Amino acid sequence: MSKAPEHLIALAGNPNCGKTTLFNAMTGARQHVGNYPGITVEKKEGICHANGSLVRLVDLPGTYSLTAYSMEEIVARDFLVQDRPRAVINIVDASNLERNLYLTIQLMELGIPVLVALNMIDMAASRGMEINSGELSRRLRVPVIPTVARTGNGKDELLGAAVDLAEENPAWEPLHISYGPDIDPALDRMEREIVAAKFLTGFIPARWTALKYLELDEEVIKKGRGIDPRLSAKLEETGEQVSQHLQKTLDSYPEAIIADHRYGFIAALLKEGVVKQSQKADRLFFSDQLDRVLTNRFLGPVIMMLILYGVYQFTFTYSKIPVGWMEAGFAALGNLADSALPEGPLKSLVVSGIINGVGGVLGFVPLIVFMFLAIAFLEDTGYLARVAYMLDRVFRTFGLHGSSVMAYIISGGIAGGCAVPGVLATRTLRSPRERLATLLTAPFMNCGAKLPVFAMLIAAFFAAKEPQVMFLLTILSWTAALLIAKLIRSTILRGPSTPFLLELPPYRLPTFKGLLIHTWERTWQYIRKAGTVILAISILFWALMSFPGLPEIEKRIYDQERSSIMAEAPEQIRKDLVEGKAPAGGAGKEFEAYRVRLQEVDFEEAQAALRNSIAGRIGTALTSVTKLTGFDWRTNVALLSGFAAKEIIISTMGTAYSLGRSKRGEDIPLGERLARDPGWNPLKAFSLIVFIMLYAPCIATISCIIRESGAWKWGVFSLVFNTAVAFIVSALVYRGGIWLGLG
Ligand code: GDP
Ligand code: MG
Repeated sequence: MSKAPEHLIALAGNPNCGKTTLFNAMTGARQHVGNYPGITVEKKEGICHANGSLVRLVDLPGTYSLTAYSMEEIVARDFLVQDRPRAVINIVDASNLERNLYLTIQLMELGIPVLVALNMIDMAASRGMEINSGELSRRLRVPVIPTVARTGNGKDELLGAAVDLAEENPAWEPLHISYGPDIDPALDRMEREIVAAKFLTGFIPARWTALKYLELDEEVIKKGRGIDPRLSAKLEETGEQVSQHLQKTLDSYPEAIIADHRYGFIAALLKEGVVKQSQKADRLFFSDQLDRVLTNRFLGPVIMMLILYGVYQFTFTYSKIPVGWMEAGFAALGNLADSALPEGPLKSLVVSGIINGVGGVLGFVPLIVFMFLAIAFLEDTGYLARVAYMLDRVFRTFGLHGSSVMAYIISGGIAGGCAVPGVLATRTLRSPRERLATLLTAPFMNCGAKLPVFAMLIAAFFAAKEPQVMFLLTILSWTAALLIAKLIRSTILRGPSTPFLLELPPYRLPTFKGLLIHTWERTWQYIRKAGTVILAISILFWALMSFPGLPEIEKRIYDQERSSIMAEAPEQIRKDLVEGKAPAGGAGKEFEAYRVRLQEVDFEEAQAALRNSIAGRIGTALTSVTKLTGFDWRTNVALLSGFAAKEIIISTMGTAYSLGRSKRGEDIPLGERLARDPGWNPLKAFSLIVFIMLYAPCIATISCIIRESGAWKWGVFSLVFNTAVAFIVSALVYRGGIWLGLG
């Protein structure tokens, strides 16, 4: 039996063009998801049959272009160049042809055999557009097959044509576009030099490489310097000359001129007879009218604040209910383990280490679902592009991008968000530098887990000025984030800002199913992680705070204390205490008194054990440094534990201050206890607030930073750098305050 021929075929297209839908329609369940080696971009592969051949279909990440502006773009073109699929199916959104063809043109310039899936023709038709696919195919000189991915219409023809093309196996034949009199001569010269030196020509057409040198493509230039430093330097120099000339004559850059010519080429392609517009696009008119209001210089920002506030409300208000369910579920699981397992380290590990740790992470899931849903909605309607457009100027001053604002807001920019979804929200940013700067600074916002800690400290020390202090903290966190972004962007992440290339897409109503699919895809990525990194680190933290425990002699002292309390108690009460049930009637008060005394011994023991634990010892050792910020060992341990999750700070401080209940068995609020403590004062409290606001992000956030940036070093960086920043600012606050006589 002969084996069926096998072809590797790639799917490429802009985000939202229907790529995933088409991929699913073609491969059904025969697919699997992995990662591209070494990075975090997802790689989807599937198998299907057509014309007696087996097709291995790879769904490339959605990209607008093949420049090196984003990880997705780099991945897509590296795959094309290195894995050399027999053909590329380029999916274009027929209702947005001009923009989608930009990628098509670049694929053709690369020379790889392309066929175009003219998708969403149903949508185009409903907008009064009729596209002559035969004419488009003749002008592009590649097959063009109309499809409706949602219904599967046209997918068999498409697959058949793709297999035909793959079987024909034509040589790569780069499309040659003219870039005008300022660029073409230099381009030709560079091309000749590249061919003569056989520079990368085994993989990439010479003209493409030359173009990349003109576009200042860092990836290609880096590779070039490694292979042939002398030629690379020469090409870079030519690029520099062209760039300077264009700046002088046209006040523009090669990148921009190249993009202009590509769009010009597309405009010419589509001229007369390709697209027939029956009703002069009502929708575009509608979009323009809407933009007059929504991006109005005065009204725009106001509406934007309202909408962003609405997103924030939606995410954090409506997710409360399912978050509550998750918490209740994990609490129940904790109780179950608590009663099922015997007393000892195993129980402590399962309850405090595993269930609490993973529960804390999975507890975020509803929040993330709601946030992604809100973002997907803003993105799919086209509004997010307007937000980015309006804020771009302000954010650009700080080396960021208009789209950075979303990540900040989600992270707690209006007080009470979460940096985990905030970091994930940076995916809308295309430039890796701006994206990194955004995700490194988003954790400075005041997330929902910091708020209870702030609320406790503010109530205790600034009771009369609660709203003012809270407002001040919001301002402080934005100032810190923007200034530090500026610092990062002018030092370690130095480089130009990406030009704001995105045109404003027309407004449209997204489909519910589409929103759900996108939300689920993103949420699942987050859940997968909770099982691994975060579990490991939760266990580590549990161990730090539990070991080595108290020495036997000390334990015995507490046991003796408990025994003597028990011995004092009358027979019946002792029995009830052992069984742990409160008696009814008059004996209740006396029982309660004994119970509280026993509990106090437990608390003291817990405090002593914490102080003796590795974390406690670290906290104690750190006091030599933290005298500058005014923190004692208890605060230090609490801050260490806050690294696992900020809300834990309160419970750790509770344990460290050995309190839980008063003699009458009521809760003593931690804040009250601190307010009465002579070791504390408003200055110390403020110094602590500032520190908590700025120091290392929690584990969940750090692991997201690592995942999203694709490098461990950025997780470590945010840990070390943020803590250093926090320390410096707190020390300035505390020492400055003392100097001013406030302490
Ligand atoms: P991707 O980002 O390229 O993977 O796009 P998706 O496959 O997620 O599709 C984006 C949205 O467009 C989804 O809501 C799809 O249901 C919808 N969609 C995809 N193909 C078509 C089509 O041919 N016609 C219409 N009307 N909608 C489509
Ligand atoms: Mg997709």
